[in-house]
Amino acid sequence: MNRASPGRRSRALGRRAARVLVGGVDSPVRSFRSVGGAPVFFARGRGAYLFDVDGRRYLDLVGSWGANLLGNAPPGIVAAVRRAALRGLTFGAPTPLEHELGERIRRAAPSLELLRFVSSGTEAVMSAVRVARGSTGRTKIVKFAGGYHGHSDGLLARAGSGVATHALPDSAGVPRAIVGETLVGRYNDPDHLAQLFERHGSAIAAVVIEPVAGNMGVVPPRPGFLASVSSLAHRHGALVIADEVITGFRLRRGTVHESLGLAADLVTLGKVVGGGMPVGVYGGRRAVMEMVAPLGPVYQAGTLSGHPLAMAGGIAMLDRLTDRVYATLEREGAALEERLRLEAEQARLSPFTVQRVGSMLGVFFAPGPVLDLPSAERSNRARYARFFHAALDEGVYLPPSALETTFVSAAVRPSDLERAAAAVKAGLRAARAVRP
Ligand SMILES: *Cc1c(COP(=O)(O)O)cnc(C)c1O
Repeated sequence: MNRASPGRRSRALGRRAARVLVGGVDSPVRSFRSVGGAPVFFARGRGAYLFDVDGRRYLDLVGSWGANLLGNAPPGIVAAVRRAALRGLTFGAPTPLEHELGERIRRAAPSLELLRFVSSGTEAVMSAVRVARGSTGRTKIVKFAGGYHGHSDGLLARAGSGVATHALPDSAGVPRAIVGETLVGRYNDPDHLAQLFERHGSAIAAVVIEPVAGNMGVVPPRPGFLASVSSLAHRHGALVIADEVITGFRLRRGTVHESLGLAADLVTLGKVVGGGMPVGVYGGRRAVMEMVAPLGPVYQAGTLSGHPLAMAGGIAMLDRLTDRVYATLEREGAALEERLRLEAEQARLSPFTVQRVGSMLGVFFAPGPVLDLPSAERSNRARYARFFHAALDEGVYLPPSALETTFVSAAVRPSDLERAAAAVKAGLRAARAVRP
């Protein structure tokens, strides 16, 4: 291989797209701004591989940001979506597919006693926050620095200075008054959270947290951290929202917060549960979810919510999530981790840290362990960009941004990672050439 990506056709399409789409894309990270260069345009995907418009093949280690747990275009999911389409694209009225997917989710994730389908993770978290506020009669929410919960106003917040300070907007167009209701905790720092509760406890409606942080690379919770999050919240009468949009059905068949010690009142899902179609879910304790209209006073609606094609995709996905799938994800995740470590060692690349939970890998050009946003942000972005581009040229598609999760799919076989070894080697050697 060893060719300069993207090819001629991708470049031409990029120029054409930029004339009509903002930045040529529909979600900013796709633009390659943070690694430089022009994005690759894809024509199709199959199993572990993506094929671009120039006819080049890439091992897919993004998996549509985690949605494609079984790889690209799994035949059973594609067939189910197709069958649903032939019966009608949308009704805006109940269909059996919604409760059929709901029943499957609840059987595997019993903390969602009652649930509602929406069309994205953003909507799911935004709605869960509204329910928490409606049910507690309080307004403030706590999120953690480096956590991502979609792009709703109140969650596009970054830490101000000092413990007492309220959050600052993390985007233009987000009013200070709205993020003034958001407090920003430090991941893996229960003492800091305790201080937030001491000062604002009676005003806090909910704490929203990723049980394994997956939006600042991969940052696992330290032992006891999640248990202290929920016990602090509950002692102060606040609810806990476990944002499992990435982790749900990826790390196991169901949710992971329980086994990690987090007692959640509300849970959000997305990505994997849609089987590649647009789906978000929020659910939780029955008494809390009964606050939602039409049963209760919290309003939330959607013209295309519970969309038949999306429900069919989700059902087909869940029906394929066997123990064997999770064994494959663990095995191939571990193999990729080992490969990265080995090649980094051989390239004498330092500092370099890989943090893995199952099929989620965080690759940091920084010293470990990475425990929170400040330690994640020490990762050398110039080195990541070189790593990314060298791997891309050798046929491996990594996340085009330094602090995103690398996802392994269950379509990956040992031979695929063997074939990708040269790309990993080239990427890490290219990274080392950048001054730390
Ligand atoms: C991706 C993500 C979201 C937002 O989901 P979208 O479908 O992109 O709106 C929310 N929370 C977490 C943890 C995520 O990773």
